[in-house]
Amino acid sequence: MDLRRLNLPEFAPGSVWLVGAGPGDPGLLSALALHALDRADHVVYDALVDPRILALARHGAVLDYAGKRGGKPSPRQADISTRLIALAREGSRVLRLKGGDPCVFGRGGEEALALARAAIPFRIVPGITAGIGGLAYAGIPVTHREVGSAATFVTGHDSSGTVPAVDWEAIARGSPVIILYMSLKHLDRIAERLIAGGRAPGEKVAIVSRAATPGQRVLVTTLAEAAAAARKAAIEAPTIIAIGDIVSLRAELDWWRDGG
Ligand code: SAH
Repeated sequence: MDLRRLNLPEFAPGSVWLVGAGPGDPGLLSALALHALDRADHVVYDALVDPRILALARHGAVLDYAGKRGGKPSPRQADISTRLIALAREGSRVLRLKGGDPCVFGRGGEEALALARAAIPFRIVPGITAGIGGLAYAGIPVTHREVGSAATFVTGHDSSGTVPAVDWEAIARGSPVIILYMSLKHLDRIAERLIAGGRAPGEKVAIVSRAATPGQRVLVTTLAEAAAAARKAAIEAPTIIAIGDIVSLRAELDWWRDGG
């Protein structure tokens, strides 16, 4: 389909678009994301952006990596925001491309605030977050009527690198579905806290590695065994982890085949 038929907004020189690239599969890009890739002068991207998506950038666009590389610490958040502002002030169309949705554990809000405070025109283009779309690729609907009426997104890793000081026991009691981002490393500790809060040790857990990419792997296990099972199966990050009865639906709904 010709994108022009959508009358998409102009990507103006001197502006920044904060765009979600989704969990991997380029087919999950929005029309606005495709439009931005087609127009951008600079693409400032993170580690989790799929290479197949970067390959869609306009010929001649400068690709600028802003994540961790070769074990080096990632550039400071302030440095990335400063760079976005400087590029926009030079008159570039700046595409800030992030995995998933830019505002879900992606610091999109922080970057948008920096742009707003510097009076740089910007637009936020939502993307499909791993905790919804990645699970769908594993045949797991994030909510399901019989499974209750709430789902909670939690990160297992805070800026100091430890398990965040959220009230895990309250989440265990209050949320039938729990979706964990950035949690593989601290899964032992998180599972312990959830069990302490009343979740059954035998409750089903799905660990979805590299969701919506050709390397997608799914391990279904239990809360008590999840961390050990992930180590044994050599599951690799990034992983999105679902806890709750939604995981059982995968037995019937696993539609994904290698390569998508
Ligand atoms: N903004 C992103 C999240 C960034 S935090 C989003 O909305 O999806 C990084 C975490 O996202 C990873 O540690 C992992 O938990 C999750 N994640 C992102 N892409 C993923 C993928 N393709 N497969 C599995 N997990 C993914």
